[in-house]
Amino acid sequence: MTTRVLIIGAGLSSGLLVDRLQQRADVELTVLEGGDAPGGNHTWCFHDTDVSGATLQWLKPFTSKSWRDHDVAFPSFTRTLSGEYFAIRSHDFAKRVTQRLGSKLRTRTRARDVTATTVTLESGEKLDADLIIDARGTQSDTNSGFQKFLGREVLLEKPHGLTRPLLMDASVKQLDGFRFIYVLPWDERRVLIEDTRYADTADIDAPAFRSEIDAFLTARGWKIEAVEREELAALPIPFAGNAPSFSRPVIGVSGGFFHATTGYSVPFAADIAERIASLPTLDAHALTTLLNARARDHWHEMGFFRLLNRMLFKGAEPAERVKVFESFYRHSPELIARFYAGKLTWADKLIALRRGAPTVPAFRAMKAAWGS
Ligand SMILES: Cc1cc2nc3c(=O)[nH]c(=O)nc-3n(C[C@H](O)[C@H](O)[C@H](O)COP(=O)(O)OP(=O)(O)OC[C@H]3O[C@@H](n4cnc5c(N)ncnc54)[C@H](O)[C@@H]3O)c2cc1C
Repeated sequence: MTTRVLIIGAGLSSGLLVDRLQQRADVELTVLEGGDAPGGNHTWCFHDTDVSGATLQWLKPFTSKSWRDHDVAFPSFTRTLSGEYFAIRSHDFAKRVTQRLGSKLRTRTRARDVTATTVTLESGEKLDADLIIDARGTQSDTNSGFQKFLGREVLLEKPHGLTRPLLMDASVKQLDGFRFIYVLPWDERRVLIEDTRYADTADIDAPAFRSEIDAFLTARGWKIEAVEREELAALPIPFAGNAPSFSRPVIGVSGGFFHATTGYSVPFAADIAERIASLPTLDAHALTTLLNARARDHWHEMGFFRLLNRMLFKGAEPAERVKVFESFYRHSPELIARFYAGKLTWADKLIALRRGAPTVPAFRAMKAAWGS
């Protein structure tokens, strides 16, 4: 029997789910996207150690570029870490998803009301399906700090000489909280350069971010020939709350599937896509149960990261937050990899707390750790 599956939103979690569901012969897919194309305007990155070898194999065709190692820089040290780092550019993602879906993808089509089996579009049209999956990417930002950034993809006048990404240059002046510059070298003259801040508020003063990026480029002797693209976002970095729970299937960041400290979601979106595609039968009840249970488990797995967030945002003064990350990046490469993957062991957590705690005043750290 064929199941008519309708997915609302053609962003990251939806595109990955489409890929997995297309392995099944019993699914007839329709995807609605409110924007002009799938994927929006993003650069999504992840480390090879964030996912299993098998997951990496099917994610690879989505990726635009990868690098074998990367650098981090802090006021007191710089470090090169090995391990493959992958980037998915949303225009490459859009091409792949559009090609895979063909006429099953409807862009510029916004859902207004959603029930278990019917979507009402903003145009008033109603669409029925056996299973409706919500992948609209909206996130709650109550009781959270923010990771906010503005990135510019620029063509430089001359080659920059970078051979690997600069994942975090936190030797720059600290503004708004913890601040670092992130640079991805696409080719010898083209880079994505982002000014990122772990800040208390979500507002982004775009002209001020741009001029800080210009100052970084100037300090390196790099001159912009052309700005080709810009992306900006403020990702909620939660302190506390409850696991999300829904009466119908919700995936992606709206479903709670993101890393509480980095805001990243690629590995979790891939995991959910695999879990859904391997269900013996696709029905709303089974899927809602699966997703709510997984969201609860993920929320628990992220508990330690929310504690770190409270220590970072509430235990440390904004200008001191850099010390928390500086201390963290002195850990072993294996522990750092497990942090990004969201898979710290108990031993890792003890080590991270022992080394991180002295970087914030003891009383404030304790208040922050237990507070909510
Ligand atoms: C600029 C930016 C960069 C990021 N970089 C990274 C990164 O490097 N690595 C990482 O892991 N994470 C990153 N993230 C965080 C997170 O992974 C992304 O937000 C990710 O795109 C979330 O996936 P999603 O599928 O939940 O939502 P989205 O990818 O946002 O997809 C939601 C889609 O639903 C559509 N939509 C919304 N409402 C409707 C409607 N009513 N009807 C129809 N369609 C609708 C939207 O247009 C959108 O295309 C980044 C986030 C941003 C904003």
